[in-house]
Amino acid sequence: MTTMEQRRNQNAVQQQDDEEIQHGPFPVEQLQAAGIASVDVKKLRDAGLCTVEGVAYTPRKDLLQIKGISDAKVDKIVEAASKLVPLGFTSATQLHAQRQEIIQITSGSRELDKVLEAGGIETGSITELYGEFRSGKTQLCHTLCVTCQLPMDQGGGEGKAMYIDAEGTFRPQRLLQIADRFGLNGADVLENVAYARAYNTDHQSRLLLEAASMMVETRFALMIVDSATALYRTDFSGRGELSARQMHLAKFLRSLQKLADEFGVAVVITNQVVAQVDGSALFAGPQFKPIGGNIMAHATTTRLAMRKGRGEERICKVISSPCLPEAEARFQISTEGVTDCKD
Ligand code: ATP
Ligand code: MG
Repeated sequence: MTTMEQRRNQNAVQQQDDEEIQHGPFPVEQLQAAGIASVDVKKLRDAGLCTVEGVAYTPRKDLLQIKGISDAKVDKIVEAASKLVPLGFTSATQLHAQRQEIIQITSGSRELDKVLEAGGIETGSITELYGEFRSGKTQLCHTLCVTCQLPMDQGGGEGKAMYIDAEGTFRPQRLLQIADRFGLNGADVLENVAYARAYNTDHQSRLLLEAASMMVETRFALMIVDSATALYRTDFSGRGELSARQMHLAKFLRSLQKLADEFGVAVVITNQVVAQVDGSALFAGPQFKPIGGNIMAHATTTRLAMRKGRGEERICKVISSPCLPEAEARFQISTEGVTDCKD
């Protein structure tokens, strides 16, 4: 058992002593205690619904698609799930208290953490990093894979990382270098990162099912998809495929949001940019915009634009966020991952 797991177990025991209130995510098997037959619970799990939260957040019509789950059973299942996962109104006071508990994962740069206000990448929502090639998106993803494993008081999330790599640019060697900087054991750090290469958009989506079943078993703090859109550009090329592409992408992003809701993981996705072809280029030089259009813009909670500065310097700008002002931070890419600028 790694030190991280030991600490987590101690915390869990402590928590049980402190309070009797149960916290999610609840494994879907808990529905059995609420009177759902084990064969039906198995059907839910086989359909990729591994938690009670997953069931509670799923539209009725999707539950009805599951073979052997009748209309009457759906009613019973929904009722049982809503007992464990209340979906009604709550006071803003309570919400405020819950939001105070949201964990942030440090980016490795204090200056960048500062513009993200509460100290880094937020758990429980989707953060999009977009920018041109070499702007540092993949490097930031690597750094987060390590920092998410740190104890909370050091800016970590005390959880494992999951990495879906659509571009083949993941390098374990970089994690070892970054682990050194934070005084973590390299072998443990690698053990705590679950990696999958995605080969096409259907495969990329299917990986999320496996991700959910792994997240029920162990605590993950971070989910990376680098890049979320690259395979969409090759799988759906012509103009005629645009609406099919957007629909597929929307579904993928929705599944990611569901993981964030269900397991409280920080979801970080990267995205490339394309040159904007409209009149503005004539005046302001080439303008770049992220891929994925409105679908992407609406599905992500926080959007960060990254660009190159001088030498190893990079600039990250908060483009859209429900609570952060538009602000810029400078950081640097070094052997140790993302750091503050040295000058
Ligand atoms: P793309 O859109 O092509 O995927 P990206 O935004 O993901 O680009 P990154 O791969 O994160 O770009 O950044 C690449 C930059 O990181 C390069 O400029 C490279 O010099 C720098 N870099 C990579 N490894 C190191 C290292 N070990 N030490 C210092 N800088 C490094
Ligand atoms: Mg990259």
